[in-house]
Amino acid sequence: MSAIHIENLVKSYEKGKVKALKSISLDIEEGELFGLIGPDGSGKTTLFRILTTLILPDSGNATLMGLDVVEDFWEIRKIVGYMPGRFSLYQDLSIEENLNFFATVFNTTVAENYHLIEDIYVQIEPFKKRRAGKLSGGMKQKLALCCALIHEPKVLLLDEPTTGVDPVSRKEFWDMLGRLKEKGITVVVSTPYMDEASRCDRIALMQDGQIMEMDSLKNILQKHPQHLYAVRSKDMHRLLFDLRNFEGMKSAFAFGDEHHAVLGKGSDDPNQLFDFLQLKGHEQLAIRPISPEIEDVFIQLMQAQES
Ligand code: ADP
Ligand code: MG
Repeated sequence: MSAIHIENLVKSYEKGKVKALKSISLDIEEGELFGLIGPDGSGKTTLFRILTTLILPDSGNATLMGLDVVEDFWEIRKIVGYMPGRFSLYQDLSIEENLNFFATVFNTTVAENYHLIEDIYVQIEPFKKRRAGKLSGGMKQKLALCCALIHEPKVLLLDEPTTGVDPVSRKEFWDMLGRLKEKGITVVVSTPYMDEASRCDRIALMQDGQIMEMDSLKNILQKHPQHLYAVRSKDMHRLLFDLRNFEGMKSAFAFGDEHHAVLGKGSDDPNQLFDFLQLKGHEQLAIRPISPEIEDVFIQLMQAQES
């Protein structure tokens, strides 16, 4: 049995005008660390809200540990831990009080499930009397995770837990998720950060209410080979324009302080591109072959969907 089974899930808002989920299907195994990766508005939060029984789907169905999100909503709330996008902490309560509150709501005590949160909680315990509103982003994130874990959920759903958090805290957070996975908890994390894909067992790339691709990072990269080159010249702005005018260019886009150029099949000779750009008068021109990363695949899939 899958820990999470989702079948043809559809959800729209504003009387059908906004299609937030366009028939999503997906299975997540027990103990999997699964990533939902997609930009703002791709439908991540909507999917989490349906899975946590906060809103109803228009059609389709979903189960968590065999429990139906519509029929068994009361049971589901006991087995799911949810960390919403903007952390649902009580700003005026201290760290300690927030944690006790969430434990009490679920009819348990902090002591009973301390083993689950211990290695996260010890990092914020020195500040346990401090109000949640006065904590740094990284500390809030750790407290919110403790609160989501305190009733010993079987499935943990985390909506953009690392958005707006500094890189060191982000790394620490993913290390913590790895340890929760080892304890057998199924973890689903949404994120707009592509580089976090490498921390997940499998990922789903979401765009505009649809899953464009779903697999392990390694398999996704293998499935979408590209003739990809990193290109630089003195005039980067004009370079992008000229790259796009090269016959046989599949796509060209700015990528950090370089441009990435994808050459189509049959026109994958970088020497021709070099000559073309030199004729256009580019100085300090450099072209080197590179291996595609997940961002490159995402852009390719997005362009394929748009055309
Ligand atoms: P994400 O979490 O990936 O940013 P959301 O699920 O929040 O995506 O949003 C998906 C789409 O649904 C977006 O177009 C968003 O504007 C719209 N949407 C989300 N919530 C509502 C709502 N309560 N009312 C109307 N539209 C909404
Ligand atoms: Mg969201």
